[in-house]
Amino acid sequence: MEAKVCKFGGSSLADASQIAKVCRIVEADPARRFVVPSAPGKRTPDDRKITDLLYLCHDAAAQQVAFDEAWELVASRYRQIVADLKLGLDLGPTLETVRSAIAGGASADYAASRGEYLNGMIIAEALGYVFVDAAEIIFFNEHGRLDEARTYEATQRILGQAERAVVPGFYGSTPDGEVKTFSRGGSDITGAIVARAVAASVYENWTDVSGLLMADPRVVENPNVIETITYRELRELSYSGATVLHDEAVFPVRAAGIPVNIRNTNAPDDPGTTIVRGDDTSKVISGAITGIAGRKDFTVIHVEKAMMNAELGFGRRLLNVLEANDVSFEHMPSGIDTMSVIVADSAVEGRLRTLIEQIEADCHPDSIEVDPDLAVIATVGRGMMHTPGMAAKLFGALAGARVNIRMIDQGSSELNIIVGVDVADFEKAVRAIYAAFVADSGQ
Ligand code: ASP
Repeated sequence: MEAKVCKFGGSSLADASQIAKVCRIVEADPARRFVVPSAPGKRTPDDRKITDLLYLCHDAAAQQVAFDEAWELVASRYRQIVADLKLGLDLGPTLETVRSAIAGGASADYAASRGEYLNGMIIAEALGYVFVDAAEIIFFNEHGRLDEARTYEATQRILGQAERAVVPGFYGSTPDGEVKTFSRGGSDITGAIVARAVAASVYENWTDVSGLLMADPRVVENPNVIETITYRELRELSYSGATVLHDEAVFPVRAAGIPVNIRNTNAPDDPGTTIVRGDDTSKVISGAITGIAGRKDFTVIHVEKAMMNAELGFGRRLLNVLEANDVSFEHMPSGIDTMSVIVADSAVEGRLRTLIEQIEADCHPDSIEVDPDLAVIATVGRGMMHTPGMAAKLFGALAGARVNIRMIDQGSSELNIIVGVDVADFEKAVRAIYAAFVADSGQ
């Protein structure tokens, strides 16, 4: 029997009317047999997320400070949802168990996980699906990493018996039976694990946007939605600043070749974005780009030395200094006598002076220059591969906008072209690239 796994994010479940929409979506397709909810999110921009309130309760309890007010915000949200949905579910005893566990010193992970747990109970009741506690099927090992063997054995066994089930997102359990959460946003990971376990035909990730956008809407007005994107492109775009799915959520489904479909709970007829495998060439449009992403927070360390190309071990010594200082580099464009390492600002904060001193001592360069104001823009697309003229179009667009390109990097995969520009030129550059590839070419 076909199975689709639907993960719903916090804004899709923020109140009873959102949950009612979710139920309609699930009921509209009999293949939507497994549902993974987040905790209720914000109803309005200045509302609070249940998860944040639960952390607050925990932190207060840990400091022996009363947390009644925060707890009441949590409990009343759930009570309201149950009442508005007119469910015959009495959450009272469970709420009391959670409250007293927090008061009694339960862990932060336990407290936070109850947001999903309680929401899962409500949604299971509303849909008439079986509720499966994630602590029974998702396991971490003693190092805090997912215990894949145990998890997939239990998930397949237990979900295999349930025709339809709700599994709360975000948490699982440790070898000694304690609740442990993934990192924030981790319900995406639970959904991906469930999708893989039940060999889903698709992993639907329902949120409040109609898919991934080709560019940041704060920079480009009304950017197009990406119809299909490969896992590799997604990785390039999210590395370069586009926020989409939790990074780790991609791996379980990617390994199993399950497509991910990002959908909008508030516009369920929109097709959203589908993430497919790289060998799916059905949707490649030659010359088209998939998306543009960028980040403004880079520093360039530019090292120059005459005859560098002939000096054996220069690159190694330079990179050794970074490694010894725990700094990873992002890009490394080089010339005959120059080498630049591009690092995230956050990686070198407070350490630049030491780095420079050590590079001077170990590499004896003629000069070192540091420039903290580099923005990096990645133009990504499988349609760029084997297509002449892509770089010309991109550089032409930047030249037309009078943006000076300070760095160029194209991996040999030809999947992306990365340019470094002054932070001050960032927005202008992204708009120019978007206009050249998308708006002006009718993509
Ligand atoms: N509720 C958790 C969080 O806010 C997990 C999630 O929503 O995915 O981070």
